[in-house]
Amino acid sequence: MIPPIASRFVAGESPATALDHVRQLNDRDVKAILNLLGEHYDDRDDAAADAAEYRRLVDDIAGSDLEACISVKPSQLGLDLGEDVFRSELTDIVDAAAARDVFVWIDMEDHTTTDATLDAFENVAREHEGGVGICVQANLRRTRADVRRLADVPGKVRFVKGAYDPPADVAYTDGERVDREYRDLLEYAFEHYDGGIAVGSHDPAMIEHATALHDRYGTDFEFQLLMGVREDAQEDLAAEYEVWQYVPYGDRWKSYFYRRVTERTDNLRFALRAVLTG
Ligand code: FAD
Repeated sequence: MIPPIASRFVAGESPATALDHVRQLNDRDVKAILNLLGEHYDDRDDAAADAAEYRRLVDDIAGSDLEACISVKPSQLGLDLGEDVFRSELTDIVDAAAARDVFVWIDMEDHTTTDATLDAFENVAREHEGGVGICVQANLRRTRADVRRLADVPGKVRFVKGAYDPPADVAYTDGERVDREYRDLLEYAFEHYDGGIAVGSHDPAMIEHATALHDRYGTDFEFQLLMGVREDAQEDLAAEYEVWQYVPYGDRWKSYFYRRVTERTDNLRFALRAVLTG
């Protein structure tokens, strides 16, 4: 059972509680990206079990009237065990999802996994002519080149600042520089991409930048924000734009909750207030 303080950020432990949350979101015109919490498996059975749950989730979404898709982590699908394990589990999920018309996002993890993740994405995206999306991190020095490479690949690209702390030889470590990169990457995408842009940020300045770029270039895009973060803004944005909420669920919620709280002490204050005010 997830304690009330964590339930601001995590939609319960079971697919049923997560799908209940999706229904409430859809009622507010916000769509959902479901993520089963789990990462860095060193046991093949754990990766296979999560992959099987994602395939069942795809069936649940397809069999409902819910506006939802899924987002998977490479190390959850066995990347630490081998690229072949990850690719095999990913392919099975994407095949199942494509057959049911459910979109699959691939999260981006630490910088040592970027090549394997991009290669696997490109492979499934070309095979399915879209239906799959990848995340790129503005704090990595390589990302400008990756974003150019991805312009020709079918599918969507989620732009984030980056949740990991890569070393300075591969990453920008100064926040202002990362913000500048993020702005430039979005500008490149709005100018050169044929839609399929996901702006994965809570930052009001980046959100405003994206809407200005949309006005200038007319390119299709969507906003993506995390469950429990700036929920009022999510609803306000949904009145005018397509908004997707990233909704984690599952019994491995502790490390995810800990990450949200440590990246921003306000999150703990908000979570406590939610508990105290019911
Ligand atoms: P920050 O730079 O953290 O903050 C900028 C401003 O945004 C703040 O000053 C404040 O005004 C506002 N803000 C930020 N957080 C809050 C808050 N909690 N409450 C109120 N205001 C706030 N990272 C990865 O590395 N890989 C992924 O696959 C990945 N997927 C993601 C998917 C989604 C949908 C989202 C939203 C993020 C994802 N991230 C991922 C995380 C991302 O890299 C950032 O770490 C995270 O989004 C924080 O950066 P930011 O742009 O939101 O704003």
